[in-house]
Amino acid sequence: MRATLMGRAAAPGAALAPAFVVKPQATSDGDVPKQRSGSAAEETARMRKALGRAEEELLELAGIVSVSAGEQEAEIFEAQADFAADPEIAAVAGDAIEEGASAERAVIDAFGTFRELLLGSESEYRTERVADIDDVRDRVVRILLGRSTAGEAPRVRSVIAAHELTPSQTASIPVEVIAGIVTETGSPTSHAAILARALGVPAVVSCPGLLDAVEPGEAIAVDGRTGVVVVDPEASERDAIRRRMEQEDRRVEELAALRDEPGHTADGQRIELAANIGSIQHIPAAVEAGGEGSGLVRTEFLFLDRTTAPTVEEQVVFYAEVLRAFPGHRVVFRTLDVGADKPLPFVEREPEENPALGLRGIRLSFQRPDLFRTQLRALLRARAEESGDGAGRLAIMFPLVSTTRELLDAREALRSVAEEEGADLTGIEVGVMIEVPSAALSAGRLAEHADFLSIGTNDLLQYLFAADRLVGAVADLADVLEPDVLSLIRSVVEAGHANGAWVGVCGEAAGDPTVAAALVGLGVDELSMTRVAIPEVKEALRRVTRAECREAALAAIELASEATEARRILEERLGTGLER
Ligand code: PEP
Ligand code: MG
Repeated sequence: MRATLMGRAAAPGAALAPAFVVKPQATSDGDVPKQRSGSAAEETARMRKALGRAEEELLELAGIVSVSAGEQEAEIFEAQADFAADPEIAAVAGDAIEEGASAERAVIDAFGTFRELLLGSESEYRTERVADIDDVRDRVVRILLGRSTAGEAPRVRSVIAAHELTPSQTASIPVEVIAGIVTETGSPTSHAAILARALGVPAVVSCPGLLDAVEPGEAIAVDGRTGVVVVDPEASERDAIRRRMEQEDRRVEELAALRDEPGHTADGQRIELAANIGSIQHIPAAVEAGGEGSGLVRTEFLFLDRTTAPTVEEQVVFYAEVLRAFPGHRVVFRTLDVGADKPLPFVEREPEENPALGLRGIRLSFQRPDLFRTQLRALLRARAEESGDGAGRLAIMFPLVSTTRELLDAREALRSVAEEEGADLTGIEVGVMIEVPSAALSAGRLAEHADFLSIGTNDLLQYLFAADRLVGAVADLADVLEPDVLSLIRSVVEAGHANGAWVGVCGEAAGDPTVAAALVGLGVDELSMTRVAIPEVKEALRRVTRAECREAALAAIELASEATEARRILEERLGTGLER
């Protein structure tokens, strides 16, 4: 049935192909026997065998995905395999079987206990994994029920249409047959969208009415830049989407050709385009995407998911590897930024009513000088090991600073550790994140004591708008393009420059070509972003001059009364919209 639907653009590109409709795969509780029929020992053995098989299948999927989409995307399946192998799950399920439950029921309840724990942890990192846990649970139950765990897959290249796609469903579809992805639910950060971006196929998410409108095999056109989905398109619509596909193919070639080119505007103004690094596995892809160093290495990934703190030696290995990945470029290591949404098992903390306003970032480092000093020591030792031309330049940045005193104390800690190590601090840039409103207001004072300021828009927006970044329902309130936020950023940049500091932006916003151009217009010197965004931002900046960026940003501040209007003004003047 012909229909034009509108969703959220989630991965660029365009496609026209038959629809492959994925049916929900969940196992309903009704299918599951409540009581065991055999002995407890037999039932327990059946349960353990099913968990073992699920683990094997998931590791196999991780291997397939790592080849087709990359190591980063494979991590999700490795984490799922870890869940299946978790001895706690088997133990809790074993107890339930002893009490008379069937293996299926026991597995569902055991996973349920973990699910509740994760949901209660208030951590985005953990709550995101709830869907992954459900996916593993369903796989184990299907194995127990003797059903196939292989998802269905199309035989011809198709647009995958689904209510939502679980990681296993997505991974069981061979990448060669995925022309595009459309889902009724989900956000641009859902697995399906991340996978689509990694594969370079278009995706549209949050597209209501999709499954009512489309029949299996019906032609479907997807535009991953505008979010428009057309079911059973007419001849003229088919021609239009084909032209878009050709345009996209040319774009992919143009972007690839820019890989080793430096970031700059059309008039030659240099803008460093660096990659955010969240784990060792991100490094090859960041280099491949043309990242000019890193403006944000989130070192907390070394500390999460373990029961003891990493030793100085372990940290040196990690930091040295990151430095080696970016010869000749700056690599900004942010010191431990945990607390709030990222609790550490080895750090005891009082429960907090408002963790986002609690003991996190640099505040926690001052409470735990042992952790802080060990990390600074490891950074200095890594630099001593990797000081030649073959490595990047070490820079150190402190998170969640809200007063100048904190910056001075952090610098003092660095000085004293350097003294103990006999390390020379010359040439090591020291910076501060501007992600708390008080820091934005004190940017000038902070810049007097820092080599650089790096604006963390993710937290800065959460605190400016009083909109928790983990709560989807309020997330849309916080928009970096609100004219007064742009004006605040302008004042931070001016205060930084007036005091001799360069200014970067390392929040998600830096990876949006329109925002990136506006930030350049406000005087920002460096942008650090998720690696997938680098080619698009690089290309967008090369087509505009710094003066054009400045004029457009000023027009957005002066003429717009809200973010959507500011975006329209910027896109019109700079030609940076997704619809390019
Ligand atoms: C930020 O807050 O913008 C930022 C880059 O840090 P994180 O997202 O790690 O809190
Ligand atoms: Mg932050």
